[in-house]
Amino acid sequence: MDYQEILNNILASVEPLRSEGKQATYIPALAMVNPDHCGIALRTLAGECYAVGDANVRFSLQSISKVFALALALHLEGDNVWTRMGKEPSGAAFNSLIQLELEHGIPRNPFINAGAIVISDILVEHLPQPENRFIEFVRALSACPSVGYNYAVALSEKKQAFLNTAIANLLKHHNNLHGDIDRVLQFYFLMCSIEMSCAELAQAFLPFANHLVPFDYDGVTLTGSQVKRMNAIMQTCGFYDEAGEFSYLVGLPGKSGVGGGIAAIYPERYAVAVWSPRLNSKGNSVAGMKALELLTTLTAESIF
Ligand code: GLU
Repeated sequence: MDYQEILNNILASVEPLRSEGKQATYIPALAMVNPDHCGIALRTLAGECYAVGDANVRFSLQSISKVFALALALHLEGDNVWTRMGKEPSGAAFNSLIQLELEHGIPRNPFINAGAIVISDILVEHLPQPENRFIEFVRALSACPSVGYNYAVALSEKKQAFLNTAIANLLKHHNNLHGDIDRVLQFYFLMCSIEMSCAELAQAFLPFANHLVPFDYDGVTLTGSQVKRMNAIMQTCGFYDEAGEFSYLVGLPGKSGVGGGIAAIYPERYAVAVWSPRLNSKGNSVAGMKALELLTTLTAESIF
């Protein structure tokens, strides 16, 4: 498969879409990013790396980090995680309060904000230095020691965090947030602020593409079964209230973020990351979704 040629064609094909949609502005620091960027990187388990466009420019991972946080929480707590949240698609916006209230403080899944805030609570509760432990794990996954938090982005989000603070309060009311609200949100904002390039992000997702080899990164271990099940959650819950559409168009497990990134995996073959900051009304990158749709169409490789 000539992935390089395919990526070149995809970048050219999505060019007209790069001006469609709107970049996220509710986190003021994200509004300052040049919205014209577009990059794609694909890494195979065989060790090849293909890249086009701005594949080496770092961007804010935002919700994509929730995959790494879930991995660390599953390592620490195993199936106990599922006593505090579900594994069902939400069909609602990532920051919705309504569902959380109706369902008595049990988030639908770990990838909506409510679920990721509970995961943050688990990590803060377990780890003496959660921020250090988390970033060391992510550095090991991405094989890149210079990956880190963007403190300005985290602070910018904190200053406008009215909805996430409301979510945390609702969780606390229902006894599903054990720690101090400000402390847990501090971790949550930093977790979302991690920056990586597409090339680094594809590397960081590669371990999730292979449940057949032991998952062990900086001492964070998962069984093959846990990795496989994380893929199932990415497939059903990775794209806000557009998970069904992404599954229909692309057919790969993955996770998007409001920074305009999407990471996805083709099990036992590759991990791919795309970035283009302009988002559709559901919060997913317009050009990024199209690029991945073209990838699985042109290669005829998807999980279906
Ligand atoms: N930090 C963002 C928030 O909580 C993440 C949203 C996202 O990427 O979906 O609003």
